[in-house]
Amino acid sequence: ETSERHANVVLIPGDGIGPEISDAVIGILDAAGARIDWVRCEAGGEVFKRGDASGVPAETVEAIRRCGVALKSPLATPLGRGERSANVTLREKLKTFAAVRPVRTLAGIRSPAAHVDLVLIRENYEDLYIGMEYDLGEGVLAALKVNSERNTRTICRTAFDIARSQRRRHVTGISKSNILKKTDGMFDRIFDEEAARAHGIESGKLLVDAAACRLVQTPERFDVIVTSNLYGDILSDLTAGLAGGLGLAASVNLGRGVAMFEAVHGSAPDIAGRGTANPTALLRAAVLMLDHLGLHDAAGRIEAALALVFGEGRVRTADLGGSASTSEFARAIVEALERAE
Ligand code: NAD
Repeated sequence: ETSERHANVVLIPGDGIGPEISDAVIGILDAAGARIDWVRCEAGGEVFKRGDASGVPAETVEAIRRCGVALKSPLATPLGRGERSANVTLREKLKTFAAVRPVRTLAGIRSPAAHVDLVLIRENYEDLYIGMEYDLGEGVLAALKVNSERNTRTICRTAFDIARSQRRRHVTGISKSNILKKTDGMFDRIFDEEAARAHGIESGKLLVDAAACRLVQTPERFDVIVTSNLYGDILSDLTAGLAGGLGLAASVNLGRGVAMFEAVHGSAPDIAGRGTANPTALLRAAVLMLDHLGLHDAAGRIEAALALVFGEGRVRTADLGGSASTSEFARAIVEALERAE
């Protein structure tokens, strides 16, 4: 290990199945020897109930800024009471400029693609998501797509940095610059500038429509992908689908000095409290977090245990056609940690 000291990490147990899957994940990290001091913080359901319409107390935001790292379970968004999504509040308060979603096929999990191992980096603040829409009258509506040079450069640079740190070889920049000549034209230009600075890493550009087709036909040829908010939103679900679905996908939201790791799925209120939820997506988020903290040994051991348990296919939760409970699945992973050594 690179560090003998304990890492401080904010844990948000979250709503619905959140507490069940986070308990399972904490137990597995502990068994894998990861030395982590969890700083438990609130966000989501309980906070809304207390009347805080943002869903995120100031102490939670401060704790994440202080620790720099958080593991977040899904947060429920109350419907129709004027509250905002606690997830959106967190992203805004922490100014997370990029969402990074690694996608890897797992042996034993049925997926449309045989082999995928890629990382998709999506701009996370601006573009069509700034929420500025206008009624121009006479049945005509408009939405503003806003892209800044600064954020575009930050995400392109982040993509090449991630490629370098993960020893990946190729970065694809995706836009629609044939139609959106100014906004997406700027994306292409900045992507090329960052590519020219990144020695030893290959790069190429694709239009988003062609990229969608190639991702389905030859997903194994992609390595790192970087794109703006809307295209990234759509393509990241496509790539997650290629590798077996949203239920197994993890992501990290990156800001300056903060990294918030999470499962892509929601709080699954339909199965909450039954002890049947699949903790794999949050566990994969925790593995990314361990790598981020430099705890590569524990990360590698958990990856190996996951591969072993899914490869054998005996212990699975109900969403994957099995009958194991959350805690039975977690026990199988802990037991596999020893065998996988
Ligand atoms: P969901 O992902 O919670 O559930 C969709 C379906 O997948 C459900 O049938 C659920 O049982 C199943 N599922 C999801 N995760 C599972 C797991 N780990 N194991 C087994 N089955 C699982 O999506 P939804 O129902 O649209 O949203 C529910 C709540 O979650 C909403 O309040 C929504 O706002 C919130 N949400 C939060 C996040 C987040 O915190 N990042 C993301 C998406 C949705």
